[in-house]
Amino acid sequence: MLKPATIILGSLLFILAGCTTVPNDAPPTDWVTNNHEQNNEVARPPAAIPHLPPLVIITNAPAVKSNTPPAVTKTKTLQPATVPVFSWSSLNRWAIAHRLAQPHLLTKSPLTTYAISSSRGNMVLAIGSREAAWNGVTLHLGFAPEFIDDQVFIHGMDLQKNLEPLLIGPPLTPGSNRVVVIDPGHGGINGGTVSVLDKRAEKDFTLDWARRMKPRLEANGWQVILTRTNDSDMALSNRVMVAEAHHADLFISLHFNSVAPDQRPAGLATVCLTPMGLPSNLTRGYPDIVSQSFPNNDFDAQNLQLAERLQRALLHATAMEDRGVNRARFTGVLRGQHRPAVLIEAGFLSNPSEARRIADPMFRQKLAETVANAL
Ligand SMILES: [Zn+2]
Repeated sequence: MLKPATIILGSLLFILAGCTTVPNDAPPTDWVTNNHEQNNEVARPPAAIPHLPPLVIITNAPAVKSNTPPAVTKTKTLQPATVPVFSWSSLNRWAIAHRLAQPHLLTKSPLTTYAISSSRGNMVLAIGSREAAWNGVTLHLGFAPEFIDDQVFIHGMDLQKNLEPLLIGPPLTPGSNRVVVIDPGHGGINGGTVSVLDKRAEKDFTLDWARRMKPRLEANGWQVILTRTNDSDMALSNRVMVAEAHHADLFISLHFNSVAPDQRPAGLATVCLTPMGLPSNLTRGYPDIVSQSFPNNDFDAQNLQLAERLQRALLHATAMEDRGVNRARFTGVLRGQHRPAVLIEAGFLSNPSEARRIADPMFRQKLAETVANAL
């Protein structure tokens, strides 16, 4: 689980925090860790990669007009050294370069909102908001679109890493092995969060969800490996190694959320690794070094496609609130993966209504079947 704090910023943006109650004076532990597990997990924020060359972004659009305001120039540097130089591009010109129809205005209130479409669907982008929507599913951009000279400008890395994979990129295809690793979050002394109803631990619900998923996936032709099959504690690094050892094509980590004692937040979220050059929308107090890259960044496009696919399928099956496809760098269980990897948070155990649903075996069966069928 993670721990969201909600920020109202035009539309709802949110920051998800830790899997267990986290002391205010210390950074929270990683996703699959809790306070008992810090000794063998990635319990500290990642360090910067030294001597990383500047990231040069090449966009398909021509340079920004010369009379653009200083806020959006062709290149700008956020911070020295670790932050790459980046560019902004006119969405109109990007559309022309990719033979797409011009973006069209949807509304001017409460935010000026545009849509750009391809044969795959519609991307809705709001000026000044990092929140976007792909065919109705919430996504989080690295940078809020800006409006300059009557045109929408998008950060070059957002075009490359968020718009391209969904609008025009090659579709997600399962690997040739059809091996998927399912990771039931937590285990053993690492219980994760607990239900507000009866204190039952997250680790029990995630294991049950994974066990229900296995036969459904196998019926669909997948070889399925669970990182744990009983109530055992397991280091983050070992969960990654399970996927390595089995040459897995996909990795999916299962969790439930909590913001106890706040009982109000609800909804379903997926998380995948933030592409290099973009800020995360989830940081949980960790430094978010945009110039860092991890093995799993080789799968940026597929991570987004997989997360979006799972988020959409689960929202459709459960009618839960959409907390979107989220981007994080601190997720040790994801970032070392040499395959598309996604983490799912299927509701809040701190919300009585959602805790009741999560406690229902039929609901967990639905989660299992939905994920299995979405693959
Ligand atoms: Zn968890």
